[in-house]
Amino acid sequence: MTIAYDLKASVRTIPDYPKPGILFRDITTLLGDARSFRCAIDELVQPWAGSKIDKVAGIEARGFIIGGAIAHQVSSGFVPIRKKGKLPHTTVSMSYALEYGSDIIEMHVDAIKPGERVILVDDLIATGGTAEGAIKLLRQTGAEIVAACFIIDLPELGGAAKIRDMGVPVRALMEFE
Ligand code: IMP
Repeated sequence: MTIAYDLKASVRTIPDYPKPGILFRDITTLLGDARSFRCAIDELVQPWAGSKIDKVAGIEARGFIIGGAIAHQVSSGFVPIRKKGKLPHTTVSMSYALEYGSDIIEMHVDAIKPGERVILVDDLIATGGTAEGAIKLLRQTGAEIVAACFIIDLPELGGAAKIRDMGVPVRALMEFE
């Protein structure tokens, strides 16, 4: 993908976080730079200029920041997908795979109506376990998932391919090994 300028340079890499051997891709530096943040959001929403999107669903926590900005840009509602026990009203939930074990994400039961057109958003896709859980959760409500959007894809971990195999187009602005 060709983007307006070197957005990738605005992502900071932290070695050995959260544990030894992991290279953590830190988007707070991208978010903290006005030009980079605007460029990232403008690029992510570009395919849906003028098309109707009902909801943007953001995955806790960095997906809230990016998803909120995208929702504003495409004039849609925003739906938070949260870790278990954080939402106040009745929820639907879904278990998803982590590197070791599993976790549960939730969404308000009435957050999305059947047939609504939804874009799923998170900062980064790695193995795709989190996004896969979110897609299953959204499909429980009858949502039409238009795409899953990320700032960063780690393609070697196979997540984007897995999500495409679920029938959901994936949009990511950059890749890291
Ligand atoms: P996956 O479920 O393996 O695709 O992991 C993606 C989830 O882990 C997303 O919610 C990301 O926010 C988080 N994540 C994994 N690695 C990184 C990283 O290097 N930087 C930021 N977030 C990460």
